[in-house]
Formats: sequence, C-alpha cells, structure tokens
Amino acid sequence: MPEGDSLHRAAARLQVLVGQKVTVETPHPRAAVKHLAERLDGRILERVEAEGKNLLLSFDGGLVLRSHLRMNGRWRVEPRGTARRGTPWLVIRGDEYEAVQWNGPVLELVTSCHKRVSAPDIVAEVPSAARFRSTDQRRAVGDALLDQRLVAGIGNMWKAEALWEARVSPWRRLADVSDDELAAVLATAHRAMQASVEGTRPLRHVYRRAGRACHRCGAVIRSAPQCEHARTAYWCPGCQAEGEPPPAS
Ligand SMILES: [Zn+2]
Repeated sequence: MPEGDSLHRAAARLQVLVGQKVTVETPHPRAAVKHLAERLDGRILERVEAEGKNLLLSFDGGLVLRSHLRMNGRWRVEPRGTARRGTPWLVIRGDEYEAVQWNGPVLELVTSCHKRVSAPDIVAEVPSAARFRSTDQRRAVGDALLDQRLVAGIGNMWKAEALWEARVSPWRRLADVSDDELAAVLATAHRAMQASVEGTRPLRHVYRRAGRACHRCGAVIRSAPQCEHARTAYWCPGCQAEGEPPPAS
C-alpha cells in the first residue's frame, strides 16, 4: 500500500514536469473511458502535491487530477521515450521526462474550487489529538489511526511502528488512550514519515515481524487482522499491553 511518504516522494519526482506544457495519454482502456487525455492534453502542469493518500496534479484552467493509488498503484518518472512493457493508465509527457502511472488508481478530474477538504496530512503537520475525540471512543486506536477522515496519510506500517514507539496497544479503545499518548503516537508517525520522505530508511520494530522478538523487551511480536478492512495489526504484547483482546491468532 503506498503510504503518505511514498506519495510525497512521487510528488517530488514529478516536479521535473511542473511548468511544462504536457501531452497526456491514457493507454489503458479503463482510463481512456474517463476522457482525461482529451481534457488535459496540451495544458500546462502547474503544480503537483501529495495530500494524504492522494496525488493532486493541477493544470492550467483550474483543472485538478486527483490520483489515489489504492493498493498497487505506482508513479514512475522516466526519460521521455523509455521503452516499457505493459499498459500504463496514464502518461504525462514533458520536454525531457514522462510520468507514467501504473495499476488501477482512482483517477478523478475535479476543479480547483471543488477540491475536497481533507484531514491534516501527517507528513506536513502533527494533527491535534483532539481530532480523535470527535469519533466513537469505543473504537480501537489502531482502527482510528487509519481513518483518513481523522488524519490523512498514515498507512499500516507507520500505524504499527508509531504505536510501538509510544507503547500503546493498537487494541486499546480511544476512551482508554490519553491525549498525551495520542499526541506521542501522532508526533512519532509525523517524525518517522518525514524522515522517510527525506530518504532515511526506517528501522522496523514490529511491522511484518510477527513471531520475532521485540527489540525493546524481547516478547514475541504478534499480528492479527484489525478493523473493517481486516488489515494486519502488529504489536508487542510485552511493552504494548492492555486493550481489548484481539481475535485469537
Ligand atoms: Zn516489547
């Protein structure tokens, strides 16, 4: 799953096309039906920004292309004319480079004045813990952290790592997590994702380490599906104790 920080990296790579009059193609038939090429071809790409899990490409005339990469979507920036196999969804071609979008994203054209207002972007700022008091306090904190209406951009890996860092179990109900603990989790996620945007490789303590020893206390890391999409939560039962018992695993 592309996380907020990988979208920021994609946005950074796409900057080589900003300010240029671009040609736009939609080779994939499922993208072609959206008639994006007809509306965007020949326009100037004015701005590329990551916002939460979306990449927003602004073109002259107030048109904004919103690209949400879902599970497997990917942007590449390559020298113009690079040979490729397969059928990308979208190709945006500038003078020297082309940006190529692969694998079924959500592509949606909106006008700049209808740009959706979304939650604070975790890479850009540390959201207030108070935001998490506006949702059902019986929800597990690990569930709420992935709710893009509360905070944009935290993916499954950073959720797991930030909770471990702050010693908070993903299974604790929001009602049982203090503002200070929430603030610590959010600040950790912000710091780690910002470092990742800047190119630092993160050290994983729990994510995809189920069955291995915790770096801090030596207990065996566990994993179990969490929340409606059943994405895997990872935690250390030793130093992230408490909370509702997760489903047996
Ligand atoms: Zn531990």
